[in-house]
Amino acid sequence: MADSDSSSGIEKLIRSNLAGFAGYSAATSPETLAGRVEVPVESIIKLDANENPYGCSPRVIQALAGYSHLNIYPDDGQKELRKLLAGYAGVAAEHIVASGGSNQLIDLIVRLFVDSGDEVINCIPTFDVYRFSTEICGGTLINVPRDDNFAVDVKAVIAAISNKTKLIFLANPNSPTGNITPRRDILEIVDTGIPVIVDEAYYEFSGETVVPLVSQYKNLMVLRTFSKWAGLAGLRVGYGIFPPRIADYLMAIKMPYNVNVAAIIAVRESLNDLDYLLDRVKAIIAERERLFGELKKMEWLKPFPSQANFIFCSVLKGSAGELHQKLQKKGILVRYFDKPLLKNSIRISAGKPEHTDALIKTLRTVED
Ligand code: PMP
Repeated sequence: MADSDSSSGIEKLIRSNLAGFAGYSAATSPETLAGRVEVPVESIIKLDANENPYGCSPRVIQALAGYSHLNIYPDDGQKELRKLLAGYAGVAAEHIVASGGSNQLIDLIVRLFVDSGDEVINCIPTFDVYRFSTEICGGTLINVPRDDNFAVDVKAVIAAISNKTKLIFLANPNSPTGNITPRRDILEIVDTGIPVIVDEAYYEFSGETVVPLVSQYKNLMVLRTFSKWAGLAGLRVGYGIFPPRIADYLMAIKMPYNVNVAAIIAVRESLNDLDYLLDRVKAIIAERERLFGELKKMEWLKPFPSQANFIFCSVLKGSAGELHQKLQKKGILVRYFDKPLLKNSIRISAGKPEHTDALIKTLRTVED
């Protein structure tokens, strides 16, 4: 059959709620910028995806280089992995489910709870994958705006609960804004009995966690990742801490072998090298604070205090979109937003000291 009418034809066949689906806008990969920026690709300073500028533990690289059983599937039951992660998180292994990045768990949780027409409460602005997975499942997003300093409006969240509410997402610290939700606010929301996901992707930078409370609640779930603190974003490994009944269901509906053998090795070796990794976390936190101080000196920028590994910043004069483009041309990548609740703003990952120096120098020149 001729393909001339393929786009309208296929729209009749795919799920109708996905016909106009906007997708997720991911960070730019440096290699796609070759020839479009004024520096070689290897010199690009990547401050747009909250990756770890120091990389992973050298023990991970060494162990992966010596591994020769890529022909064999990983353990589908995640026995060793769950035990290792449980030890790190300080819970029993029955609470743990591991995944290919914590994004995969967000998707799995939504698939477990949300049927077409069910409601998911989202405290916007926040991490866009909550919207992404909810829309793919045919759920209805109930957006509850945060206040001017991006604090969760607890009363409004509770007021938004209906008999169709299946999940409430709370990123803590929030992304892209970096602020923490106090534990008492989280617990007020958990006390409603609705399943709550506290996304602690940046836990190692904030030191704030509700993991010790998971065993006391039937409806509290916590997500973590090795992408940020352990420098393993490229390998895709995350995990969650769940009430055991929910963990059992997630294990049952996950794809077989969802965590690859390289990721299992990387978790094992990262946890064997905690002191090394946590020293680098300290360096990143120190650099976040220095970056905040430097940005604050520029009166055309308004940085917000952050407990993560990035700084969210309103651009008070000029266009954030143009600023993003000018920085990109000079080989410095930052994330840029211009949406109703994230007007004219950028988010900058905390890098190495020399990255902050280069960024600040370039910000001074592009300002003129
Ligand atoms: N949650 C939040 C709040 C994040 O910012 C991110 C990363 N951008 C993730 C989850 C996803 O992390 P992962 O690499 O583990 O999929």
